[in-house]
Amino acid sequence: MRIIVSGAAGFIPSHMCDRLLAEGHTVAGLDNFLTGSPKNLAHLQGRPGFQFIRHDITQPLPEALLDSAQVGAVLHMASPASPKDYMEHPIETLDVGSAGTRRMLELARAHGASFLLTSTSECYGDPAVHPQVETYWGNVNPVGPRSCYDESKRFAEALTMAYHRTHGVRTNIARIFNTYGPRMQLNDGRVVPAFIDQALRGAPLTVFGDGSQTRSFCYVSDMVEGLYRLMFSGERYPVNLGNPTEMTILEFAEQIRALTGSRSEIVRQPLPEDDPKQRQPDISKAIRVLGWEPRVTLDQGLRHTVGYFQELERVSI
Ligand code: UDP
Repeated sequence: MRIIVSGAAGFIPSHMCDRLLAEGHTVAGLDNFLTGSPKNLAHLQGRPGFQFIRHDITQPLPEALLDSAQVGAVLHMASPASPKDYMEHPIETLDVGSAGTRRMLELARAHGASFLLTSTSECYGDPAVHPQVETYWGNVNPVGPRSCYDESKRFAEALTMAYHRTHGVRTNIARIFNTYGPRMQLNDGRVVPAFIDQALRGAPLTVFGDGSQTRSFCYVSDMVEGLYRLMFSGERYPVNLGNPTEMTILEFAEQIRALTGSRSEIVRQPLPEDDPKQRQPDISKAIRVLGWEPRVTLDQGLRHTVGYFQELERVSI
């Protein structure tokens, strides 16, 4: 089937493109490189079945896409996603969740294609319910620094449901929890690349606040498997995808130090405003409707990821 992927040069979407091609689909990837990197797609250049179109999806879509051969699915994955990135680009983030989502939904509707939105655990904000279940409506500060991302994704979810209810588009919504792996940007500010980079350079590991806040990290191949299953499912309401193994950021820093054999010290930096205190997905629904749960342990996933960053640093020397 022919599949359109927005945000194709992003971390998770680039892995999704690999998976779709490996399954025999043809893929047209869209990206404007605001935060995605051409490097993430370099290995697909010239690959039969893959086409890349540099395009900002908040703008009218190229004719070629509207007229082209039948599209079977639209995966709308475009958005700045790391806190550093979306706080640097708050208006673009709101635009891609609103105007961008609308254009991608229209594309799916015009082709009678299915539509998958990659939403986020940030829809739960700083959650008062733990672990987070899909039926929890969240605790989002609508005017805080993270609101550009949280509300953009919440709006995108609402628009997706409206297209399903009004136009019968076959939609799916994934709420993605913290995901890591090769092709994360070393400087995107997220805790996984930040700590690995610091540990490998022998620089201090920067723990924000007292490090007691929790996160649950999912390896990218598990995430892609969950997304692939979801796009073929008839589940229209949001489904959490993530790894439920929860840890504090301080424990995570210790784990990175142990894994890399680093002697980096741990230093404290101020906790960013509205930083969620706890996050852990309840994945009972994904297990029930998709038969999916993560397989890769944190230790295995981090070893792969550290290996990737070591290679990057070796090449750049
Ligand atoms: N964090 C940290 N040091 C860093 C980067 C992040 O302690 O150098 C913390 C951050 O405050 C948050 C957690 O790690 O509590 C995860 O942050 P990340 O930016 O990876 O993603 P988030 O889950 O907040 O979207």
